[in-house]
Amino acid sequence: MNAVAGAVLVLNSGSSSLKYQLLHPGSGEVVHGGLIERIGETEVPDHKTALRRVFDEFTARGLDLTDGAGTPEGLVAVGHRVVHGGRSFHSPTVIDDHVLAEIRRLSSLAPLHNPANAQGIEVARELLPRVKQVAVFDTAFFFHLPAAAATYAIDRELAEKHALRRYGFHGTSHEYVSRRAAEFLGRPTSEVNQIVLHLGNGASASAVRGGRAVDTSMGLTPLEGLVMGTRSGDIDPGLVLHLGRSLGMGIDEIDTFLNRRSGLKGIAGENDFRALGALIEQGDEHAKLAYEVYIHRLRRYIGAYLVDLGGADAITFTAGVGENAAHVREDALAGLEGFGIVVDPERNAGRISEPTRISPDDAPVAVLVIPTNEELAIAREAAAL
Ligand code: AMP
Repeated sequence: MNAVAGAVLVLNSGSSSLKYQLLHPGSGEVVHGGLIERIGETEVPDHKTALRRVFDEFTARGLDLTDGAGTPEGLVAVGHRVVHGGRSFHSPTVIDDHVLAEIRRLSSLAPLHNPANAQGIEVARELLPRVKQVAVFDTAFFFHLPAAAATYAIDRELAEKHALRRYGFHGTSHEYVSRRAAEFLGRPTSEVNQIVLHLGNGASASAVRGGRAVDTSMGLTPLEGLVMGTRSGDIDPGLVLHLGRSLGMGIDEIDTFLNRRSGLKGIAGENDFRALGALIEQGDEHAKLAYEVYIHRLRRYIGAYLVDLGGADAITFTAGVGENAAHVREDALAGLEGFGIVVDPERNAGRISEPTRISPDDAPVAVLVIPTNEELAIAREAAAL
């Protein structure tokens, strides 16, 4: 039997990148994967070319994605990460013409991401016509947020007409990590109240009550909430008005300013946490301030979600920063012993690549590190359909 039999191809098309992974949904075994970056700026002009290149790469490795495709002897599905599901999609969905058109239509809510996702889907359907294509939405886990958490306090009729609400993102990761956390604790998901902190280059927090998301830090777009590598997170909306009115900035300029030139990069000139750490060690004041703002915002959300949930059974860190930066985990939860939250310095030390409890066994709140695995989660959702 070939290595493709029973496997799922997971595609994650970013605005200028394509991440791909061929893996087995049951065991999680990765057959092959990779990343094509700077699409549009290099000899790879678009996602179509990128995906053809991926196919050639698989073929060169003796992995024929078309062999027995759509049967148990071949590739069983292609799972596409789609950023914005809007009001239309609240669960993984088998893609047909109508679904693809709807994903395109939602591009107004995610102009950088949904068009790239749609292109990836289009090419994959063309190259693998017999394989089921499944869209897994980054917003789905937060679709049923309580109205109080999902609603912006703006004109209700306008908001309804234009689908302006808080959607949340990184949902696949929050769902996967919250389930794994409950499993790790040996308790049913329905009995665990938890705070999940997905801290990567993009970052978001969520409050999950008994397996259902009740709040999250990202909103209509992935710009709201925590301080991120290059995104501001929460700001006074009056700042946007001021940038336009008093500084004469145009809408696209403000978009670039808040999404690409803010966050850690805006304050310290550096968005990578490792580089930021090195600057802090050299005594760089701006890097130190950036770190302090980052931690301050994170603690503000932890506090809010502790109240939202009426106390948490678990607080879980995940993604690049959450899994690797011990000082972030320590500083985010420092001084919260009164709330039953304690981090054991020995358990917390260094990078953590396995599900781990970093609080003492007898502490009331379990503080965990659970490595996220969005590709595996997407592959499982796709295979399940
Ligand atoms: P992600 O978006 O989940 O891939 O996470 C990317 C972020 O994780 C970047 O800011 C990296 O600097 C950070 N990161 C990766 N490895 C480490 C590490 N060993 N220590 C601190 N931060 C790290």
